[in-house]
Amino acid sequence: MSAESLKYLMIGLITLGFLFDKFTSWLNVRQKVPQVPATLQNFLDQEKLQEAKSYQKTNYYFGLISGSFSLVITLGMLIWGGFGLLDQWVSQWVDPMILQSLLFFGLLFIGSDLLSIPFDYYHTFKIEEEFGFNKTTRKTFFGDKVKGYLVGILIGGGLLALLLWLIQELGEGFWLYFWGVAAVFMVLINMFYTSWILPLFNKLTPLEEGELKSKIMEYASSVGFSLENVFVMDGSKRSTKANAFFSGFGKKKKVVLFDTLVEQHKPEELVAVLAHEIGHFKKKHIIQSLVISILQLGVMLLLLSLFVNNPEISQAMGGDRWAVHLNLIGFALLFSPISTVLGIFMNLLSRKNEFEAERFAKETYDGKPLASALKTLSVKTLTQINPHPLHVFVNYSHPPLMERLGKLEN
Ligand SMILES: [Zn+2]
Repeated sequence: MSAESLKYLMIGLITLGFLFDKFTSWLNVRQKVPQVPATLQNFLDQEKLQEAKSYQKTNYYFGLISGSFSLVITLGMLIWGGFGLLDQWVSQWVDPMILQSLLFFGLLFIGSDLLSIPFDYYHTFKIEEEFGFNKTTRKTFFGDKVKGYLVGILIGGGLLALLLWLIQELGEGFWLYFWGVAAVFMVLINMFYTSWILPLFNKLTPLEEGELKSKIMEYASSVGFSLENVFVMDGSKRSTKANAFFSGFGKKKKVVLFDTLVEQHKPEELVAVLAHEIGHFKKKHIIQSLVISILQLGVMLLLLSLFVNNPEISQAMGGDRWAVHLNLIGFALLFSPISTVLGIFMNLLSRKNEFEAERFAKETYDGKPLASALKTLSVKTLTQINPHPLHVFVNYSHPPLMERLGKLEN
């Protein structure tokens, strides 16, 4: 394919991707405010549903504006050869290709991050604030940025440097070696995320003595799960929104409950939430999604190896020579429809796993307190109770509230 056609293909693919994404959100935002379902009668009223709708609309318009802004910048870069200009510029400063590529990606990353900061800031301090969710201070907001950069440079920069070096040394055969290293790395990150990375941003503390701990202890021992692995995290540092998650495997497995969750729920509801998280562990969902991610990465790297030396891709990006970094960006743009499809597949799997974890909690503990925890949680976070089916199919990692309640309460 000629460089010119490749360029139009990229322009077409990212524009279609954007339109598809906005189309599903638009279908969703058009959904009428429903009547209060019988099962939620004690939890919300019409006024609360209106508030949820206006939160959803605000986020929809915000996403439309920020998304259009970034689409216009990307299209502009493609049409006027911005990536090629940046490549010419970095090639004047340093000589080895690896350093040129790192400088290229570094500048691109800083540029795109600087452009996104005003949007993030507005979202946190205007939208989330207005609806009463925000607890982040300016200090935490910018502190997170700095820490995020450091982690990004260390992990992302390190892996990128390795990838570039392998491509330089091995040509198309790079993919198998890089895949091996990246797979080991993904396993390590999965194991040590809560020990190494999470503590940079949040504080994890073991459960305090008391009614909750003894209830949890009783349940945990009934399903053979060690309580040493249950932690409370200071989620309230950033948001009033509550959550819980399971992370890692083997000796490093942990269930993390947000302090906001602990504050807002009765002990038996918290045990039910914990039962759900332990369900993810018992049903091996963590290992399953890790294996799938590794396989996906392998396929992606294999495809990349077929494109990485193609000079037309660099030209399509506006380059006047072949450069590995131009090809990597070009590949990412060409690969974007495949990643959308893979994302949909992962969401499908995730929703199935959520139902499995829910069934586990129902069978080993009780469905009722889990249902009431879900209701409280959803009402507090202004969750939409009638999302559009296509929007759910494409974007939801968890089944919609009413479907979950249907299974729990029957
Ligand atoms: Zn879950």
